[in-house]
Amino acid sequence: MSSTSVAQPDSNKAVRGNGAAAWLAAERASSQAAVSPVVDLQRLEQIGRDLLIAIGEDPDRDGLIKTPNRFARMWREFIQYDPGTIDTTFSFESFHTDQMVCVSGIPVFSLCEHHLLPFRCEVAMAYIATEHVLGLSKFARIAQKHAHRLQVQERLVHSIADEITATTDSRDVAVLARGEHLCMQMRGVRSEGLMSTSVMRGLFRSTDAREEFLTLALGKKNGK
Ligand code: ZN
Repeated sequence: MSSTSVAQPDSNKAVRGNGAAAWLAAERASSQAAVSPVVDLQRLEQIGRDLLIAIGEDPDRDGLIKTPNRFARMWREFIQYDPGTIDTTFSFESFHTDQMVCVSGIPVFSLCEHHLLPFRCEVAMAYIATEHVLGLSKFARIAQKHAHRLQVQERLVHSIADEITATTDSRDVAVLARGEHLCMQMRGVRSEGLMSTSVMRGLFRSTDAREEFLTLALGKKNGK
């Protein structure tokens, strides 16, 4: 149950001074490269079969015959998720405003890269609009895009913030994710718990915008 605010990336000794920016640039490159990853369905199916054998199952018994194929298709569906248009054909409306735009309560499923087990996050995103206004549905697409890969929650919020910055030109961006991780709930400590990660950039780091964002992002849940 950590709350990270602008968590620093793993230290990279080759990068000095601007490590976070370099890390985010690398993230952006890798996330863009991951838009259409190649998934080897045949190999996945073999792995599914091998997995069953490795845990002492008979892959040819009733009930498991089609499991390797389902396993392979499940991975393909997850990895080759198509978020639709989010960066190249944004429909911007152009007007000048300092208004905060906040979208909260967007649920996404992702897979923890340490255990390959699902985690479910509720994501809230905000930015201070300058010239470009992001269509509301794009927020969900951006969140889904970055959830559909092997992830850690800390990187998920950074990737989402990075993409909102890239597409809106706003330096004032906030992202909060609250996640339930099966790797924590069904194994290990077997404990219920919400993990919160956040990124606060620009005005969200120090001004009232941060408070306003957190109120909007968390307000609905506080009443529960
Ligand atoms: Zn995990």
